[in-house]
Amino acid sequence: MTTAVVVGGGPNGLAAGLQLARNGVEVTVLEAKDRIGGGARSGELEVPGLIHDYCSAFHPLGVGSPFWQTVGLDRYGLQWAWPEIDCTHPLDDGDVGVLYQSIEQTAAGLGVDGRRWELAFGDVVRNFDTLAPDLMRPIVNVPRHPVQLGAFGPRALLPATWLARWFRTDAARALFSGVAAHAFTRLDVPLTAALGIMITASGHRFGWPVAVGGSGAITTAAAAALTDMGGAIETGLMISDRSQIPDADLVLLDLSAAQVLALYGDQMPARIARAYGRYRIGSSAFKVDFAIRGDIPWRNAESTRAGTVHLGGTAAEVAYTEKQRAAGILVENPFVLVGQQYLADPSRSSGEINPIWSYAHVPKGFGGDATEAVIGQIERFAPGFRDQIVATTSTGTVALEQYNPNYAAGDIIGGANNRLQTVLRPRLALDPYATGVDGVFVCSQTAPPGAGIHGLCGFHAANSALASVGVQPDMTGGLR
Ligand SMILES: Cc1cc2nc3c(=O)[nH]c(=O)nc-3n(C[C@H](O)[C@H](O)[C@H](O)COP(=O)(O)OP(=O)(O)OC[C@H]3O[C@@H](n4cnc5c(N)ncnc54)[C@H](O)[C@@H]3O)c2cc1C
Repeated sequence: MTTAVVVGGGPNGLAAGLQLARNGVEVTVLEAKDRIGGGARSGELEVPGLIHDYCSAFHPLGVGSPFWQTVGLDRYGLQWAWPEIDCTHPLDDGDVGVLYQSIEQTAAGLGVDGRRWELAFGDVVRNFDTLAPDLMRPIVNVPRHPVQLGAFGPRALLPATWLARWFRTDAARALFSGVAAHAFTRLDVPLTAALGIMITASGHRFGWPVAVGGSGAITTAAAAALTDMGGAIETGLMISDRSQIPDADLVLLDLSAAQVLALYGDQMPARIARAYGRYRIGSSAFKVDFAIRGDIPWRNAESTRAGTVHLGGTAAEVAYTEKQRAAGILVENPFVLVGQQYLADPSRSSGEINPIWSYAHVPKGFGGDATEAVIGQIERFAPGFRDQIVATTSTGTVALEQYNPNYAAGDIIGGANNRLQTVLRPRLALDPYATGVDGVFVCSQTAPPGAGIHGLCGFHAANSALASVGVQPDMTGGLR
């Protein structure tokens, strides 16, 4: 029987383990922390009974992941819950961009920009299920649906700032810019429209749901499925040296490029080791979790019903803020994402105390404390917020890396989304999961299709590993 060790029990490590196990491989997952889950973990912080998402919160890519669908995570206890409104982007003058799951409802709320919103995203939403398999795998593959991909291509190549200018109202421009800012890069460079279009379209296709009980429910379900398939999971084992990895036919690494290089760099062909050495980490996040009494007193009613609220002002301000951040400058009002998961999943609250998730985009490796900047940005659109705070937990860039060594300097997306790295990660190769070392593959978000709790990096890496030992992977079937 073929044996495999997966280092790292994040969503992609578990997905890789599942794909290997259901193809007859004996799998062991080794996880550094006491609990599996990586970027999908949740639990209490300061206030007993209050459930916070430690990392990821909203899951258009999770609910829509073709891989998780084949696993059937619902059979292992995963339930999704949708907020009434996916996302809002309030402006200082009281105007607000509102993103509903329904593209028609979103368009209706955008007035003169409604038709333009449908023209910008409607075809991608309609073709999402056929486009996604081409977009959610290495770009070097021959497209399965070249016509739809060809139609998507020209828009995707644009800077997000250009596509934002296609809209006429501040609300629509800001709404798109806030979504595009998830790319965590300057918005005035080519290709940044692509992620904005994909996230907007996946939201219209699937909504922006949360996992009932916390994002940790996703990886708990994946781990249960893996165990059900005969896979083993060992926790509390930090791998810092190759000698700690048990002998196996295949080794899959749910690790950052830097960790892969540190473990196997001396065995890699020199050109691959150089490519890993050149790999650039992305910008940093500064996370702030709050426990608050009641709801955030947003100035506009829509934000009190939204799962996510993007705070960054107009499209021009968001573009400026992201440009400054990329240059290493933290502006007074950084781009902040606020999560109100309890609106969709009240089980996370404790009486009248509610958990609030937020993080700011900060310069790479930012060493300061951005807590006040985050509170100030929320106060800007919700005066009185500060008075409702019961407890605050700040997690800066250093703490993020301590929490998970993959988040080097607070880079939560596994590598910069600069032009080439967005699609050619961790290096330009027909098989980007292969490390050049026999039997060793990278399966983390450092590889295509990148960040998100979709499990697809793990799925593709496992298929590459299976092919290397002559197994034709089961690409579609559910668990046996
Ligand atoms: C604050 C924050 C907010 C986010 N929000 C969202 C969101 O709303 N929606 C979304 O889709 N995505 C979001 N993400 C991104 C998402 O969490 C990641 O894309 C995803 O978790 C990547 O999964 P992975 O399996 O590749 O890696 P990881 O999640 O990093 O998992 C890697 C695992 O390996 C373990 N590990 C690391 N090093 C070692 C070692 N040397 N030895 C053993 N084990 C090791 C880690 O403990 C971890 O469990 C967010 C991330 C953060 C941090």
